[in-house]
Amino acid sequence: MLERGEVANTWRCERWDSLRLLTPNWLSRLPGVPYDGPDPDGYMTSAEVVELIARFAARIRAPVRAGTNVTRLRRTDDGYCVTTTRGDIRCRAVVIASGACSRATVPDFAHAVPASIKQVTPHDYRGPAALPEAGVLVVGASATGVQLAAELRRSGRPVILSVGEHVRLPRLYRGRDVLWWMHASGVWDERYDQVEDLKRARRLPSPQLVGTPERATLDLNALSAIGVELVGRWAAARDGRALFSGGLRNVCSLADLKMERLLGVFDEWALTVGLDAEVGTSERFAPTPVPQSPRVQLDLRSGEIRAIVWSTGFRPDYHWLDVPVIDAKGQLRHDGGVVDSPGLYALGLPVLRRRKSTFIHGIEDDAREVIDHLARYLAEANGAASVRA
Ligand SMILES: Cc1cc2nc3c(=O)[nH]c(=O)nc-3n(C[C@H](O)[C@H](O)[C@H](O)COP(=O)(O)OP(=O)(O)OC[C@H]3O[C@@H](n4cnc5c(N)ncnc54)[C@H](O)[C@@H]3O)c2cc1C
Repeated sequence: MLERGEVANTWRCERWDSLRLLTPNWLSRLPGVPYDGPDPDGYMTSAEVVELIARFAARIRAPVRAGTNVTRLRRTDDGYCVTTTRGDIRCRAVVIASGACSRATVPDFAHAVPASIKQVTPHDYRGPAALPEAGVLVVGASATGVQLAAELRRSGRPVILSVGEHVRLPRLYRGRDVLWWMHASGVWDERYDQVEDLKRARRLPSPQLVGTPERATLDLNALSAIGVELVGRWAAARDGRALFSGGLRNVCSLADLKMERLLGVFDEWALTVGLDAEVGTSERFAPTPVPQSPRVQLDLRSGEIRAIVWSTGFRPDYHWLDVPVIDAKGQLRHDGGVVDSPGLYALGLPVLRRRKSTFIHGIEDDAREVIDHLARYLAEANGAASVRA
């Protein structure tokens, strides 16, 4: 196992200070390491996630070579050559588990933002103190964007939130964590080969959720209530101005509708399995109220905002991969983690084999199936080699 940093590196180095998991403790488990602390319904801090992963690595005696950066992977006659900062390694098979969120996605027009505005991504943001004491534009309203917008607003700064397509969810539904519903109803277990539009499912933004001791909902209504101004998707930058889409109402209506549909699925499931009487009564939530005419442009030179937080998503980083398995969009070509090159595998990507694939608890089922395939591949490859010998 090659790791450029230390075990659980992303949780040590790439998370902001206040971050807590949005998955509850009882769900954030690794194989053989269930949560056994005093607060199963709480949400771990990054330090607690580091502890969980380090404990797991020690338990399975993971053969980790820390501080070993992979700089190139290429095919050879009988497998692969992995070039690292500590020398080359030859092997028959490779599992790419380098993460789905290695790079923050930032739109091209970020270059057109005046130099007087500080720009940060969630990878460099640690807390409000590093930003000027002035207005902030947060771009993107998925889990990261809504959490950072709330934190910055609570620090006393005026905050504008640019909202594109998003997934609205209440923290609690019928008295239970909404992710309990995702898990128990089997929605999260839907397999990649049964998902209707897999490409779309793999691009789906993270849900508007935050893990707090109060188990509070953090949707756009909650943000408006603390004074965050909502604007549409940032579409272009021209003549020192940010131009926002006029479609804010549409994206909010769509998110409301999809949430209603999902809650309907949960209700139906509860009825079918006879849980209806055990959980709270069915709930419906008020639609997102959108300002009558949200502004469609912002003068970036006026001083109204002095910082931009790009919460526009993440993507993997395969610059070291010298095997032709990357598509035009920069994504790995694979079928459920079996990459389009013999002996090459992937884990930890969105909807790799199930809807839960990129979550911590999602790795167990995916890894078992991918490693089964890999073991069969090696057995066949070894069999063929001994016949040749
Ligand atoms: C902001 C944020 C919040 C999240 N919140 C949650 C949550 O609440 N609940 C949840 O279940 N999941 C959450 N996730 C998803 C979470 O990241 C995954 O569940 C889990 O950490 C993925 O583990 P991984 O090992 O697949 O990838 P990563 O954690 O990305 O680990 C990849 C590792 O590969 C190493 N690496 C990369 N490139 C190289 C190279 N070239 N050479 C050597 N080493 C390399 C990196 O240093 C890193 O340690 C969140 C993700 C983000 C970004």
